Amino acid sequence: MTISGKELSAKLKAEMAAEVAAFPEKYGRVPHLVVILVGDDPASISYVTGKAKASEVVGIRNTTIRRPADISENELLDLIRQLNADDAVDGILVQLPLPGHISEAKVIETISREKDVDGFHPLNVAALWQKQPCILPCTPKGIIKMLKAAGVEIEGKRAVVIGRSNIVGLPVAKLLLDRNATVTIAHSRTRNLPELARQAEILVVAIGRPKFVTADMVSEGAVVIDVGVNRDPETGRLCGDVDFAAVEPKASVITPVPGGVGPMTICCLMENTIECFLNSRKKGRTDA
Ligand code: NAP
Repeated sequence: MTISGKELSAKLKAEMAAEVAAFPEKYGRVPHLVVILVGDDPASISYVTGKAKASEVVGIRNTTIRRPADISENELLDLIRQLNADDAVDGILVQLPLPGHISEAKVIETISREKDVDGFHPLNVAALWQKQPCILPCTPKGIIKMLKAAGVEIEGKRAVVIGRSNIVGLPVAKLLLDRNATVTIAHSRTRNLPELARQAEILVVAIGRPKFVTADMVSEGAVVIDVGVNRDPETGRLCGDVDFAAVEPKASVITPVPGGVGPMTICCLMENTIECFLNSRKKGRTDA
């Protein structure tokens, strides 16, 4: 079975749109997401456009602020601080990657934890690892939703996550662990990766290498989640880290690229923006 992130995200966005439609009467306004785009990298422009379109569908206000690639780090940090202080802004996202002269760590730290819709702030990350309330990072959150929608039981399963980045591999592994899977995290130094991958009942691949996972690395009936977004060197088309055509016949469940994890990531960004909006309403009541 192929899980369509496109279809699932369309359904979830329609549900969110119905929820948000009641907000003006209930709260006086809709949630507001501000996306900062530095420079004019075509991939970043396309991601930011996707976020603006999804916001429109859900009924969230979206402001995209564009700044030139040579903006100084201080100017960018000042912009973020202004948005942190603006009560009319609920979520702030700075599109990554940033030009080399700007520290991504400093940018992520400067975004207020309460408005950190990406879930990248160190305090959100720490809260995730301590099982405290936090804003979950969008891609891992979207993966868990896809598994749930496909009826995949996580508890007790052997899961292998290939990739250990802060934004995908590590948090996906943590969310699977919290749902009582037994998790192994593999990376570029892992020895005999094919043998390890074959042991997986749930295999998550987030490395950024076109068609890296071949049929011989997947056991019959495995659930395969492909996070990678790459260009196929032969066709120039978008493809994942998994050789979909070869692996699909063996997998019980598999996600396609495009149309799999990607749309779910944006869907969860919408959900996180609504969550930040509602949290600040609750906090306002507590503070009053
Ligand atoms: P990243 O920060 O570059 O991390 C890549 C990870 O893959 C690293 O942990 C690296 O190991 C591991 N790796 C690289 N080559 C490997 C190999 N030959 N064997 C085993 N492990 C290997 O990448 P990322 O940000 O996690 O992104 C991964 C992919 O997901 C990219 O294609 C990215 O575009 C995509 N992505 C998609 C979404 C979405 O919404 N669909 C969101 C985020 C990212 P080491 O740690 O040992 O270097």
